[in-house]
Amino acid sequence: MSELNVYTSIYPAAKFTFSLTLTLQEANSAMFRFLGERQYSSLYKIVREDDLERLQNAVEKCKRLSPGEEIDECIQMLNQQGEYEKFIVILQKYEGIDYIYLELRNVSSDEREIKELKRRLAIFEDYLTLNGKAYFLYSPEDDKFHLFWMDYSQMVDICNQPLQEWRRQVAEKQYVAEKDMVAFESFCNALSRASSEQTFVFSGKILSYGDNMDGYKVQMIPREYQGKKLVLGVWAVVNIRTGEEVRDYLEGTFVDSLTKTLNKKAITEYALRNVKTGNQAAVIIVDLDYFKNVNDTYGHLFGDQVIKGASDVMKSVVGSSGMVGRIGGDEFLIILKDYGDEPGLRSYLRSIKANINMLFPERVGENRLSCSIGAAQCGVDSNDYSELFRIADKALYIAKQKGRNRFVIYDVRKHGQFHMTDESTDMTEIRDSFYSEKDLSRLNKLLSQMVLRGSGCLPELLEQLAHTMMIDRIVIFWGEGRNVKAQYPADDVWNQEERHIFEDEDYLSLFKDDLLICTNTNYMEFSQSRVYSTLQKRKVLSYMQFLLRDNEGRICGMVSLEACMNRNSFPKLAVQLFGNMCRIVNAVLIQELALDK
Ligand code: GH3
Ligand code: MG
Repeated sequence: MSELNVYTSIYPAAKFTFSLTLTLQEANSAMFRFLGERQYSSLYKIVREDDLERLQNAVEKCKRLSPGEEIDECIQMLNQQGEYEKFIVILQKYEGIDYIYLELRNVSSDEREIKELKRRLAIFEDYLTLNGKAYFLYSPEDDKFHLFWMDYSQMVDICNQPLQEWRRQVAEKQYVAEKDMVAFESFCNALSRASSEQTFVFSGKILSYGDNMDGYKVQMIPREYQGKKLVLGVWAVVNIRTGEEVRDYLEGTFVDSLTKTLNKKAITEYALRNVKTGNQAAVIIVDLDYFKNVNDTYGHLFGDQVIKGASDVMKSVVGSSGMVGRIGGDEFLIILKDYGDEPGLRSYLRSIKANINMLFPERVGENRLSCSIGAAQCGVDSNDYSELFRIADKALYIAKQKGRNRFVIYDVRKHGQFHMTDESTDMTEIRDSFYSEKDLSRLNKLLSQMVLRGSGCLPELLEQLAHTMMIDRIVIFWGEGRNVKAQYPADDVWNQEERHIFEDEDYLSLFKDDLLICTNTNYMEFSQSRVYSTLQKRKVLSYMQFLLRDNEGRICGMVSLEACMNRNSFPKLAVQLFGNMCRIVNAVLIQELALDK
C-alpha cells in the first residue's frame, strides 16, 4: 500500500483528470461531492477570480512537464454552499495522452487528523516489513480486534469487533479445531496482555468462514505508536501437514479472477457482517447496460476489458469506504459504509456512473458505455440483508425501466411500499407493488376528469401514464385518416409510419380482445413485415397496443404504448390499467365524434 493510498483513505482527496480543453474526464467521489450538481461546469467557473491566472499558468506549465513530474498551486474554490475553500492543487501530465491529472487536497484539516494519519502510516510501514496478506491490529485500550486482508487496492475486514466477543463467537461456531483450542486461547490471552512478540499455530475455519479447516500461523508484535499501545500481526495460512505457507490463499478463495474484486461468496459475507453491526451501510447493485450488445459488437475479449474497467472504476470510487464484489457476469454488488447523508451517497453513485461513461472512448466512440444502479439503505429501508438486496434489485429494475444510465436510490415515498414476498412469488407481483398509491390515484382522477371534460385531458393523462408505467412513448391514432390524436412526449416527431398497421391483416389478427402485448420485439414472429421494421427503426423493444372501434365495431384507431427496453412481462396491473384506460378513451372519443356530426 503506497503512502498516497493511506493518505487518501483517511481524507479522501478530490481527484480528477481533465483534457487540455478543460473538460472533465474522470473524477472520484470526493470531487463529485464537492461539485454536486455542477459536474458539467468548467472548473474555471468555480475558482476564485484572483486565483484564475495562477491556475491557468499552472496548466500551461503542466503541459510541458515530463511524465512523473508534478507542480502544485494553492487556490480557492467555491463549494456548494457558496463559500470559498482553500485547496492545494497538484497537477500532473498523464503519460502519453493529453490529459491532466489533478488532485485537490483540502488544506484546512486539523492537527489531530494529521497525528492519526502519521500513526497509521507508521503502522502500515511496520506491516510492510511483515510478509503476509492477512493482518490484524489489536488495541488493548478499547479491546478492538481488527482482522483484515489487503487486496490490490482494498482492505477487506474479516472481523472488526471487541476481542472477547470475537473469541466467544469463534468458540461457539467451532471455528477452531478442538485439539487446538488451548493454543487459540493462549493467543487471545497474549493479545489482551499485549505481552511480547510471539507466534501461535492452530487449525481453524476462521478465514474460510466455516468452510474448510486450514492451518494458521499467527505472529503478534506489540508496538507503541505515539504513546499508545497496539498489537499488530500477520496471519498466515499454512498447510496442516507440511507446515508450509499457502500462498494466495485469500485470493483463491475470495477473489473473482477477472476483476480482482470479491467473489459472490465473499461480498455476501461482507454484506451480512456489515448489515448486522447496524452501522450505516448501503447495498448497491450495479449492472452494465446492453452488455450483450457490447460483446456482440466488439467481441468478448473487449467485453472482458469493459467488465474489468468498470470494476476498477467502482473500486477506486469506493476506496476504503466499502467493498466491491462481482455477483454475476456484468453485475456487481457494492457495500458502501460511512457515506454520510443521502447527497453523500449520491455523489458516490454519480461518480461511478460518470466514470463508467468515460471508459474506452477511443474504442466505443459515441456508443458510450453505461450502467444502471439500484441502492437501498440499511436502517432506512430495512435492517435485513436479504430484504435490502431485494429492494436494491428493485431499484435497479426501476433504473433500467426509466431508460438506463442512471441510479435509483430506493425511496418509499416515490416508489411505494416494498412488500417482501417469498422466492416462489412471480416477479410481476413484486413489480406490481411498485406502482405507488399516489400515482395510481392520480391516474384514476385524470380518467374520471376525461369522462367529464372530454379528450382535452389526454396529454396530461398520457404523461401520467408514461410516468407511472415507465413508458417512453404513447400515441393515439384516431378517425378515418388515422391521424395522431394525442401523444407523449408532446414534441415527439411522428411520421405516422405506424399507420400501415391498419392495413396489415396478418398483424391485426394477432390482437386478442383488441389487445396486443409484445415484451421483446427481437422475438417477434413476423420479422419480415413493415410493422417490424418500423418498430426496429424506432428502437421499440416492448409495447402494448389496443384497437379503438367506432359505434359499429369497425376499427377506428389505436393506442400504442412503447418502451425502448424489453420486459420479461408486463405486470398484470399494467395490462389491466391499460385496457381500462383504452376503453374509457374509446368511449370518450366516440362520444365526441357523435357530437361533431
Ligand atoms: P441490460 O441493460 O438489461 O442489463 O442488458 P444486458 O445486455 O446487459 O443484459 P444482461 O445483463 O442480462 O446480460 C449480461 C450479459 O453479459 C450476458 C453475457 O453474454 C455477458 N457476460 C456474462 N459474463 C461475461 C464475461 O465474463 N465476459 C463477457 N465478455 N461477457 C459476459
Ligand atoms: Mg446488463
